[in-house]
Amino acid sequence: MARQKVWRSRVGGSDTATAPHPGTPFIGVDVGGTKILGIVTDGITASIRDRVQEPTPKNPERFADGILAVVGELLDRVPGVAGIGVGVPGLVDHAGVLHYGPNVQGVLGLDIAGQLMRRFPLPAVAENDGYLTALTEHRLGAARGHDHAIIVTQGTGIGGGLIVNGQVLRGANGFAGEPGHMLIDRFGHRCACGRVGCWEAVSSGAGLANLARDVAAEGKAPGILTAAGGDPAAIRGEHVAQALAEGSPEVEEILARFSWWVAQGIGSLIALLDPSIVVLGGGLSAIADGFIDQVSDQVTDAIVGGRHRPVVPIAAADFGPEAGAVGAALRARDFVING
Ligand SMILES: [Zn+2]
Repeated sequence: MARQKVWRSRVGGSDTATAPHPGTPFIGVDVGGTKILGIVTDGITASIRDRVQEPTPKNPERFADGILAVVGELLDRVPGVAGIGVGVPGLVDHAGVLHYGPNVQGVLGLDIAGQLMRRFPLPAVAENDGYLTALTEHRLGAARGHDHAIIVTQGTGIGGGLIVNGQVLRGANGFAGEPGHMLIDRFGHRCACGRVGCWEAVSSGAGLANLARDVAAEGKAPGILTAAGGDPAAIRGEHVAQALAEGSPEVEEILARFSWWVAQGIGSLIALLDPSIVVLGGGLSAIADGFIDQVSDQVTDAIVGGRHRPVVPIAAADFGPEAGAVGAALRARDFVING
């Protein structure tokens, strides 16, 4: 209800909103730590009519300007847009305010939806990017038909969304669904959020690099170390992906450790939420063939009573880098109809 009040007070929406005509365009924007992707769809399907991609401004004070520029360019190109949805990586409340995001340091208390509505005469809504990815996979992708599902996106960090009783879970403040910052290893690696031992620090792209550095420091990945210029600290997820693509046996130990950690986190989530499917998406999907079977094998032992309950399938996401933007457009259309 808070969202409806915000929108109506700013753009004067009526209490009897009617569904936009099918085919009406909506803008969906996904803001990442490095790039901003804006697309135009019908807000119902994933059919993309137009797209703009720009780098995310390095300066946090220019962060909103980057989003406004992408939206402005799409509005110049596509007539008749009826609403704007934006996904951002961080804690977004029910009113669309981004409170904090570990991968967009320095952006605090930003009212993105409000800024969009002041600049453009259109309804606008902002959400957590993991929420929007979950919306896309639930409505159009791998979690379709599942009333209880966990969607985990493994990119630079970990994002996610939880489907509970057929809805993406919001929580009291809108902050639900951040599995990446569950504490999983008190003596583990430092996370982008500043704490030590988050699941993200061993199960995202950055986590994969952390584990590769461990293995290299033990002298077990000389080829990867050489590819990184001889400095373990310079090893990144890309070096692991490259070694995997080349069929190097060095990645086996790294992926075995990685799979184990991924499985521990998923096991905890399954124990908590009892889903009928777990969907893995995000940038690491490109190398998921290298670990998803190992994760599936190990999840059973990572759940309480794992051998006395139905197997929960671990599936690859149907959507790739556009999942968040597609979900943003879905959400924009929902917002115009329902607030
Ligand atoms: Zn963290």
